[in-house]
Amino acid sequence: MAASDLAMAGYTPQRPDPKLPPVRINLYSDTQTRPTPAMKEAMMRAEVGDEQHGDDPTVHALCDRMAALMGKEAAVFMPTGTMCNVAATLVHCSPGDEILAHETAHILTSEGGSHAALGGFQILPLKGARGMYTPDELRAHIRGKSRHTPRQRLVEVEQTANIGGGAVWPKRVLDEIAAIAREHGMATHMDGARLMNACVAAGVPAAEMAAGFDSVWLDFTKGLGAPLGAVLCGSAAFIDEAWRWKQRLGGAMRQGGVCAAACLYALDHHVERLAEDHANAKALARGLAQMPGMRVEEPDTNLVFFDPAGTGVGAAELVRRLRLEGVQLSMLGGRIRACTHLDVTAAMIEETLGLMRAALARG
Ligand SMILES: *Cc1c(COP(=O)(O)O)cnc(C)c1O
Repeated sequence: MAASDLAMAGYTPQRPDPKLPPVRINLYSDTQTRPTPAMKEAMMRAEVGDEQHGDDPTVHALCDRMAALMGKEAAVFMPTGTMCNVAATLVHCSPGDEILAHETAHILTSEGGSHAALGGFQILPLKGARGMYTPDELRAHIRGKSRHTPRQRLVEVEQTANIGGGAVWPKRVLDEIAAIAREHGMATHMDGARLMNACVAAGVPAAEMAAGFDSVWLDFTKGLGAPLGAVLCGSAAFIDEAWRWKQRLGGAMRQGGVCAAACLYALDHHVERLAEDHANAKALARGLAQMPGMRVEEPDTNLVFFDPAGTGVGAAELVRRLRLEGVQLSMLGGRIRACTHLDVTAAMIEETLGLMRAALARG
């Protein structure tokens, strides 16, 4: 893994530049989907209570549904996925404990050092292709237990692996990783920001993907298209403790049902259709691969990483040229990332490929 590939969060959030044309085709991120009119309808009709007080019926409906989907006892609604991750590590670990995760994991690269700052945990970065480590790589990093070594407490995986190119961990590998963790007395946590993308791509139910994991969460603001919210699942005792951290972190809500209704709507209407995003990503990758000099990583799901270095036009320049045509891409390290989602159609992919060919032809 090149150092530049770890530069994931090295972007600066910026207000839109009024001098640029509006973005017509947004391949920047699946976080930029807008709630659909029907989703807004569902939010408007939501029955609500006081979530912090425990009486918002729509939040309860969402949590019950998510616990069942993930095959866990209980669930808690959180404002963000980042908060699911930090609440989970805070429940699983004590200060000084070590978490084993891939070197590109979101918890390590993109959460502001919260696991160290708030929990006093260190993260041991594991290596492996496409954001995934092998069971052997995990075994090789199990420390002997002594008064000198940090207590290794938690094994973390990311399904799909974001910086790994939206790669899907096979269920059999996940089961093996979980078994190794258990054998060494460690807990297991799955960052399932895009878990449903993995489930749809692999045809494996979420409960089976997460079966070996003590905690797992799903983000509703990625491909599922809700405006905010993520749900963390685990045993009843785990969720009780996660609730304490939610309170401590300042994240309890009031009429959260308005947002939970969007998440329930997404579960009903936006899961199966992720297959379209995957087909669009594959079409984009196929088209890119036909451009001389373009290096394209074959996508498992909705993230397409490509490197135009061999075309004679650099990545930053290509992103700039496409932006001037109203197409928004992102750059991670030296690579370009295109992300397909709810607001990207097959026709937009064709148009993007045409604009890309024209941009490259200018040399
Ligand atoms: C987006 C993302 C997160 C964080 O989720 P937010 O809802 O943006 O806080 C965590 N892990 C992965 C893999 C992600 O892609």
